[in-house]
Amino acid sequence: MKHTDICEILKDPARIGTQAVVCGWVRTSRDSAQVAFLELSDGTSFPRLQVVVDKNKLDLDPECMKLGASVCVKGEVVKAYKGEGQELNASEVVLLGKCPSDYPIQKKRATLDFLRTIPHLRLRTNTFAAVFRVRSVAAQAIHRFFAERRYYYVNAPLITASDCEGAGEMFRVTTRPWNASEPDEASYYKADFFGVKAGLSVSGQLEGEVAATALGKIYTFGPSFRAENSNTTRHLAEFWHIEPEVAFMELPDVIELAEELLKYLIRAVMEECPEELKFFDSFVEKGLIEKLRGVESSEFAVCEYTEAIRLLQAANVPFRYPAEWGCDLQTEHERYLTERVFLKPVFVINYPKEIKSFYMKQNPDGKTVAATDLLVPGIGEIIGGSEREADPEKLMRAMRERNMDMAAYKQYLDLRVFGSVPHGGFGLGFERFLMYVTGMENIRDVVLFPRSAGSIV
Ligand code: ATP
Ligand code: MN
Repeated sequence: MKHTDICEILKDPARIGTQAVVCGWVRTSRDSAQVAFLELSDGTSFPRLQVVVDKNKLDLDPECMKLGASVCVKGEVVKAYKGEGQELNASEVVLLGKCPSDYPIQKKRATLDFLRTIPHLRLRTNTFAAVFRVRSVAAQAIHRFFAERRYYYVNAPLITASDCEGAGEMFRVTTRPWNASEPDEASYYKADFFGVKAGLSVSGQLEGEVAATALGKIYTFGPSFRAENSNTTRHLAEFWHIEPEVAFMELPDVIELAEELLKYLIRAVMEECPEELKFFDSFVEKGLIEKLRGVESSEFAVCEYTEAIRLLQAANVPFRYPAEWGCDLQTEHERYLTERVFLKPVFVINYPKEIKSFYMKQNPDGKTVAATDLLVPGIGEIIGGSEREADPEKLMRAMRERNMDMAAYKQYLDLRVFGSVPHGGFGLGFERFLMYVTGMENIRDVVLFPRSAGSIV
C-alpha cells in the first residue's frame, strides 16, 4: 500500500497544502456533531497524527472511531489548528481492520504486570513502543560504535559443546527422546545428534578470543542462554550479549573501552530518541534524563575489590549477606557501592580468583585476577569483563584447580601456545543496558518475548 510515514508528515511543514495517504491504528478518537478527530499511530514516531473528519462531507464508518482499529486515510496536510505541527484533513477514511471493544489495550494505563500477560499486544502501548524504538536505536549505535573503531563483527555459534563457565546454567541441545534404559550419560549422548553432549552458548567469548587473536579487534552481538534458576528482575534465560574481545588489550584498556561504549550509547539514545526519553522521564523514572546527562559527562569511578569489601563492612546498612573478602558481591552490595558510595557507575577491579572464571589473568599477588564488573545505580552489574590469562602454564594450572577437562579446551589452549598475546574483553547485557537507559525496572519489559524459569509465553 503506497503511503507516507506519519513521522514524515509531522516533522515537515513543507508538506502543508499537499495530499497524503497514511495508514495506522486509532489510538484515541473524539466525536462531535460536525467533526470527528482520530489520533493515528503507525509506529514511526512517538507523537501521533491528528486526523480531522468533517462529518458533513464524509460518511465516517463508526468502526473507524474505535480504539485499536486500523485505517487508511487520504487527505490534505494542514497546519495544526491548535499548537505546532501538522494534521490531516481527511477526504477518505477506509477501515482496514476493526477492533472489537474487548481489545485488552484500553485508554487507561494498564499495569506492566498485566501487559506481561499479553506480550503480543503490549507493543501497542506508548511505553512498549518507546522501549522498542530505543532498543532498535541502541542496537544500531552498537554496530556504529565498533565500526567507527575498526572492530570486526563476528558471529559466534549458539550451539556449543564446551560448557565453559555455564556448567549448571547450560541448556541442553538434544534430539533424543527420553530413554530410561540408557546405562549412563555418555552412551546417551553418543547416540545423540552431535555424538556428544551439546548445549546453548552462555557466552561467545571463547570463540571471540579465536577471532581476536587473528583479526585483532572484534565484537559479537547475539543471544546468550542461561538456565538461571533465580527469578530476578535482572535475569532472562535468553538475552542479547555484546562481547568485544581485543588483542593487546590489558585491564585498563578494557575499562576504557567499556566506559567509552556506554557513554556513546547513552549519547546516541539521547540524540535519537528525545521524545521517548522525555516520556520515560515523566512516567517511568523521574530524573532519568538528568541521570543520563550526568553519566555521559562524568568520569566513572574505579575501585579495588578489597576496598569495596572494606567500604561494605564500614557501611551502616543491614545487608542480607554480610560482605567478607572472598565473597561474590550480591546485588545489594553492588547497588550500595554505586548508589550510596560513588553515586555514579563504578568499575570494581581485581576480584579474588576463586569467585571468577578460570580464564581471567592472574595477578602477581597470587590471590586476585584482573577482572572488572561495571556497576550502575538502579541495577548493579551491567558489564563483566577481564584481561585473559595469556600464559599457557598459568591457564592450565587454573583449569587443573577447577578439575576441568583439558582435552576439551585444546583449541583454547592453542591460542596461548601459538603466538600468545595479552588480550581482554567484556560482556554487556543488552537488556540490562536498556533497563538503565529507559528506567524500566523489570528486564522482562525490554525484550519482545521474555523467557525465564517457568515462563515461556
Ligand atoms: P549476574 O552476576 O548479574 O548474574 P554474571 O556475572 O553471571 O551476571 P556475566 O557472565 O559476567 O554475568 O555476563 C556479562 C553480562 O551479561 C552481565 O554483566 C549482564 O549485563 C549480562 N547478563 C548475564 N546474565 C544475564 C541474564 N541471565 N539475563 C540478562 N543479562 C545477563
Ligand atoms: Mn559478571
